Amino acid sequence: MRALIVEDDGKVAGALKVGLTAEGYEAVVSRTGEDGYFRATTEPFDVIVLDLGLPGRDGLEILSGLRSRGLTVPVLVLTARDTVEDRVSGLDHGADDYLVKPFAFAELLARLRSLLRRGRSEQSLRMVLTDLELDPIARVAQRAGITIDLTAREFDLLAYLLRYQGQVVSREMLARDVWKEPSRGTPLDNVIDVHVTRLRRKIDADAPQKLIHTLRGVGFTLKAGAS
Ligand code: CA
Repeated sequence: MRALIVEDDGKVAGALKVGLTAEGYEAVVSRTGEDGYFRATTEPFDVIVLDLGLPGRDGLEILSGLRSRGLTVPVLVLTARDTVEDRVSGLDHGADDYLVKPFAFAELLARLRSLLRRGRSEQSLRMVLTDLELDPIARVAQRAGITIDLTAREFDLLAYLLRYQGQVVSREMLARDVWKEPSRGTPLDNVIDVHVTRLRRKIDADAPQKLIHTLRGVGFTLKAGAS
């Protein structure tokens, strides 16, 4: 069982990881909402433990983002306050269950077991834009039904652009989230541009409709239609 723990509190996150690992889970920790959302949309998980109070993108935003993308992975929400309001808004946003901090680890395990028992509904992480389809689990990208041969980096880059489809993706975002090198001496701009050019050649060259657009001085956007 693969569990994603999205929790900014290092102590809680660490304890959950140790505890779940001891129970046979493969536990992955995300310390920010951004990273949690990225992992949840690009990697397969059987269950997600989601803290609501996160810096940046908060738990409820992540939850509604996942659900609006059609992701059905069970989500157990951790809340700091036990108010009816919090509970209702968590469940409204698509949480499957919730647990109020502080909680006993045995209780968390029981809740997770119950969520997992409810059965894994058809989990689809497929990302789609017109005839471009990407399966992050199988790591397969297709355009018009034809599989495109991508390097690991090109695949991650495309998954990121798809996740932010219709929005502007800056080189800083790509350096931080895809290359995971937010601050290095020489900017990654040239490296990023080379990869985008290669990716564009593979995705768009033979297609009548171009999807990857460059916004001069700003970054890139993936969308159908003219930029
Ligand atoms: Ca927190």
